[in-house]
Amino acid sequence: MEQDNLSYILHHMNEDGLPENAVSPPIFQTSIFCFPSFASFQEAITDELNHSLYTRGNNPTVTLAEQKIAALEGGERAKLVSSGVSAIAHSIMAFVRSGDHVVCVEDCYSWTRVLLASYLARFNVSATFVDGTDSDKVIAAFREETRVLYLESPTSLTFKLQDLPVLAGAARQRNIKTIIDNTWATPIFCNPISMGIDLVVHSGSKYLGGASDIIAGAIVGSKDDIDLIRKQEYLQFGTVADPFMAWLMIRGLRTLQIRMKAHYEGAMAVASYLEKHPKVENVLYPMLDSYSQKDLARRLYRGGSGLFSFNLKTRRLEDVIRFVDALKLFKRAVSWGGYESLIFPNAVKGGNPASAGISLVRLHVGLEAAEDLIGDLDNALRGIG
Ligand SMILES: *Cc1c(COP(=O)(O)O)cnc(C)c1O
Repeated sequence: MEQDNLSYILHHMNEDGLPENAVSPPIFQTSIFCFPSFASFQEAITDELNHSLYTRGNNPTVTLAEQKIAALEGGERAKLVSSGVSAIAHSIMAFVRSGDHVVCVEDCYSWTRVLLASYLARFNVSATFVDGTDSDKVIAAFREETRVLYLESPTSLTFKLQDLPVLAGAARQRNIKTIIDNTWATPIFCNPISMGIDLVVHSGSKYLGGASDIIAGAIVGSKDDIDLIRKQEYLQFGTVADPFMAWLMIRGLRTLQIRMKAHYEGAMAVASYLEKHPKVENVLYPMLDSYSQKDLARRLYRGGSGLFSFNLKTRRLEDVIRFVDALKLFKRAVSWGGYESLIFPNAVKGGNPASAGISLVRLHVGLEAAEDLIGDLDNALRGIG
């Protein structure tokens, strides 16, 4: 996206003429909207999608956030919802019915997998999970009854990429809806709709909010697809984006561009340090020259975010624990996308400690000075065998 346009969307779009010439848009913290007459009341109730009637439907603060996110992704419309998982669930459920089939990338976000592998099975919707790095394998998984191709690039924890233009084209030929989780790249670094993808979902709890203080989700797509989701899943399940959350997101968006630039620089510095370290086996950051899918990464992404994984050489759980506990700046937590650096060791999930993946550690590189973060890692790596 062009710089000027981006800055206009983030800072000015649809913000002229605010009450009292306020510079910050007001929070419409209201559940209902009143009408001066029967006729205007009736007009709103019979066309709820286009009127402020009730905040489970529309709210002006939420609408402003939606307009900005739609513009950032290059989609016609966006719907803000209460979480990333509700964005995922709504976008998939809107397009399937009993007997249908979904193709999904393996290593997708854990709750996406639960939805497709067990929850939707109750309604006789089946799913096949495929290695998304091989476009031929993905296409081979399509069946007569396949309605949705669900992508997440890069995948959670393992950072595997998919060839979005190729898969979008193949799915379109077969009338299969394509949905992608674009939380990692954000609209700053990747716009999947411009590559032919139908719907983009985000966990706004990550970079769109940017301060680890909201849970939010967004769905972006054509007016027809978003209107369908609003009429069906959104109004039905009531996963409402509340006005204060939307306001915090608008505030977060002001700095999205500069934050992502800083996360990218920080992650490159930390990842480059780690890949040279003798106690590190490999680093899974798509923007590194050493990355197995680096050419595809360059075609898809204008930059990378602050999230990546690496494998320690050790296979001993005690070593992993000692490393994790020695860190002072990287905080031990789930999630990511705020200003702070975080560590998520795969082994913290429990299970069989001898299994592969015990050495996998995910980092979120926040906005701290990269040399301080490298110093923290260096110290912690020194303590292990
Ligand atoms: C966090 C996350 C989600 C879920 O979002 P919530 O806002 O926590 O519901 C979905 N996809 C990815 C890639 C995530 O990291």
